[in-house]
Amino acid sequence: MTHGLFDHHIHSDRSDGTVSLAERARSVSIRPHGISDHYPWREKLRNDDDVLRYIDDAARLGLRVGLEYDLGVAPPLLPRTRESLHYLIGAVHQVEVDGLWVRYDVAGAFLKGRTKSFAERERFLAPVLAGRIRERILDVVGAGIQRDGIDILGHATMSPLAALGDPEAAYPAEWQERLIALCVGAGVAIEINEAYGVPHREFLERAKLRGAAFSVGSDTHGPLGPLDRTAAMIEAADLPRGRFL
Ligand SMILES: [Zn+2]
Ligand SMILES: [Zn+2]
Repeated sequence: MTHGLFDHHIHSDRSDGTVSLAERARSVSIRPHGISDHYPWREKLRNDDDVLRYIDDAARLGLRVGLEYDLGVAPPLLPRTRESLHYLIGAVHQVEVDGLWVRYDVAGAFLKGRTKSFAERERFLAPVLAGRIRERILDVVGAGIQRDGIDILGHATMSPLAALGDPEAAYPAEWQERLIALCVGAGVAIEINEAYGVPHREFLERAKLRGAAFSVGSDTHGPLGPLDRTAAMIEAADLPRGRFL
């Protein structure tokens, strides 16, 4: 099901992963994959100089090189840096709502299966906050497309709202259509994210109907694991192979 598909979303010890670039270069023989560390990342990927060094080091090992660009937070890349990247994944990990940062970490750990329950559940059941988060997601994704030229939208619906357990309730169909339209209109691929198991089936079916392109992202920070969730998601939404980057 996922055989031969290119895995764009992989971390190394150049941000918060545990595996070196040299080891990543070796696992390309297990399945085709690139490298896409977080930008910015404290101490390690702070600015364009760091990114250009990263690109050089990874490309010299034969890896295709991207970044996981932190939408709404990352500073703009210089044109030369952007052009040196093989691809750019944009992903949201927090949003600013009325001057306060809403962080995704607790929800992310839950969606990755690292915690048994979602401790912040009550807070995100508030409809006003949920609506503001959804609006902010559209804003920062729009900016990532317009200003930064992302190629792939990483874990598009991963947020505390997804962690509430019913993504069709947390994300009204109209909102999903707007997010999909942003991507389709700019030719930005929608990632099938193995680690978080997002987006959900109905979102992927809507995206398929609108003619979206897709991308595989294991989002691994350690050893290269199987793409079981990805295969199940692709199959459930019946996504055509020809739509994948
Ligand atoms: Zn991410
Ligand atoms: Zn990632």
